[in-house]
Amino acid sequence: MTIPFLDLGAATAELRSDIDAAIARVLSSGRYIGGEEVTAFEREFAAYVHAQHAVGVGNGLDALHLALRAVDIGPGNEVIVASNTFIATWLAVTMAGATPVPIEPDPRTHNLDPARIEAAITPRTRAILPTHLYGQPADFAPILALAERHGLKVIEDAAQAHGARYRGKHIGAHGHAVCWSFYPGKNLGALGDAGAVTTNYPEVAERVRLLGNYGSRTKYVNDVAGVNSRLDPLQAAVLRVKLRHLDAWNARRAAIAAFYLDQLADLSLTMPFVPDWADPAWHLFVVQSDRRDALQAALRSGGVETLIHYPIPPHLQGAYAHMGLHPGSLPVAEHLAASVLSLPLGPHLSLDQAGQVVTALRHALQ
Ligand SMILES: *Cc1c(COP(=O)(O)O)cnc(C)c1O
Repeated sequence: MTIPFLDLGAATAELRSDIDAAIARVLSSGRYIGGEEVTAFEREFAAYVHAQHAVGVGNGLDALHLALRAVDIGPGNEVIVASNTFIATWLAVTMAGATPVPIEPDPRTHNLDPARIEAAITPRTRAILPTHLYGQPADFAPILALAERHGLKVIEDAAQAHGARYRGKHIGAHGHAVCWSFYPGKNLGALGDAGAVTTNYPEVAERVRLLGNYGSRTKYVNDVAGVNSRLDPLQAAVLRVKLRHLDAWNARRAAIAAFYLDQLADLSLTMPFVPDWADPAWHLFVVQSDRRDALQAALRSGGVETLIHYPIPPHLQGAYAHMGLHPGSLPVAEHLAASVLSLPLGPHLSLDQAGQVVTALRHALQ
């Protein structure tokens, strides 16, 4: 028995003939940058997340970096980020020339704790950058209220939240810009790197498009120092196929999550907490255990693959050593890093396999 954490090959196999046709269409078009496939995906994805605009970019990190630059965040500015997010959230702020200011998450939801934001605001703060971690929407209402009161932008890291809803409304345009990754393992994944920014602000969309295309509106006329970060038509064509299945595939994820929540409730594990206003996309199913490493090893020898999101918080990475944040400085993030464990979850995990994960966990926790 071997249960993979996520079976990407099965995802491609299920849609193989439609994906083949989409790729063939791009090959025949003779157009390999921009064009109708990219425009059509942008239109379809914007409609899906209920945003007025979507701009395709090269990956999720660029989506974040370009969105920050698009709202004029740069050197001397501070951006509030979660202490327990994937490092890309921080790196995007660094790439924009600004400083990430971490605050601790709510230990129950693992998402940015709105109660801690105000104390982190300084005269240099320009934005709040919540991550919808594990596909669980962040608690938006207080974040937006604080942003409004202090004149801050809200840029969302939605790389794990395709299809998630906050109080019934799709993640996609609550803040000034919402940043997406279509890395293959995400709920909506390409066959390589891809990303997008969605927004209801036309000037933000226009600015992201400009910055991602060499800062050029007219070929060989460069208004600002942009970068090259565009969504490939091949990836756009594949994403158009997969977008049509996103809700159904998210429903399969939700069914497995419901099964785990039911079947694991009596074990000595901390289960995911879902506030009543949240409709998660169930990108990850993350449990917590004080004996995490032993548990992971036991599951591995039982043929169950698990992952850790994330084992080292950004402030303890070499990349941020210059911030001088030592172990103990962000204890909630550090405790999560030591105790979280992501169970197998995906649209191609059967309930039978999920049952085997439950059995293996029961056995390991005996
Ligand atoms: C995947 C991910 C990113 C980065 O996306 P890439 O497409 O890999 O650059 C950013 N933030 C979070 C929370 C992610 O999970």
